[in-house]
Amino acid sequence: MIVTIDGPAGSGKSTVAKRLAEQLGVRFLDTGAMYRAMALAAKRANRSLQDPVAVAEVAQACQIRFRDDKLLLNEDDVTAEIRSPEISAAASLVAAIPEVRRQLVRLQQEIGLQGSMVTEGRDQGTVVFPGAQHKYFLTASLEARAQRRLQELIRKGLTSSLEEVREQIRERDERDEQRELAPMKPAMDAQVLDTSDLSVDDVVQLLMRQIRG
Ligand code: C5P
Repeated sequence: MIVTIDGPAGSGKSTVAKRLAEQLGVRFLDTGAMYRAMALAAKRANRSLQDPVAVAEVAQACQIRFRDDKLLLNEDDVTAEIRSPEISAAASLVAAIPEVRRQLVRLQQEIGLQGSMVTEGRDQGTVVFPGAQHKYFLTASLEARAQRRLQELIRKGLTSSLEEVREQIRERDERDEQRELAPMKPAMDAQVLDTSDLSVDDVVQLLMRQIRG
């Protein structure tokens, strides 16, 4: 069984997907982390993030894999490093490059063949797993999403302002929605859920009830 959870930054999809996977006793796949690792690889190689040829070369040469809860880039644990606002923005630039998507989509589909999972991202229900049994698209107002992201950054000890976070999210959403390849949008058969006024527990319970039927 594949459950896809797509949606913009701050919609709660990561937390919901992780908890849902735990409750269902299946694996959890964070596909955004893979795009983040690709952006870090391009940065480490000093390539321009908007040069498709240069980034494609890096993508072909690097190895990304999960080990337990860790994300390894060429066997180096980059789990914490990929969470910075700088890498968030960089990830959405490299995510528009066809070769990057080709490689990561293939990797995600290979992981999907290994058994049931809950996978989250932007294109899981539309492109990567169009035949998934349960598809959701979580969304929330820009204000609610910016507040959540700011709290997350503060918890990590990073400083930022609500205005700054709101602008970063807005820019990233616009790029993710408007790119030509696999733009962020709900699959035709996805259920769209606005989480602005819902807690994580509310959303997980709702999805569990529907999945368990
Ligand atoms: O979900 P997260 O914020 O970690 O994603 C980082 C970036 O990776 C997104 O802004 C998006 O550009 C890209 N991404 C994507 N397709 C996915 C997952 C993430 O294009 N399935």
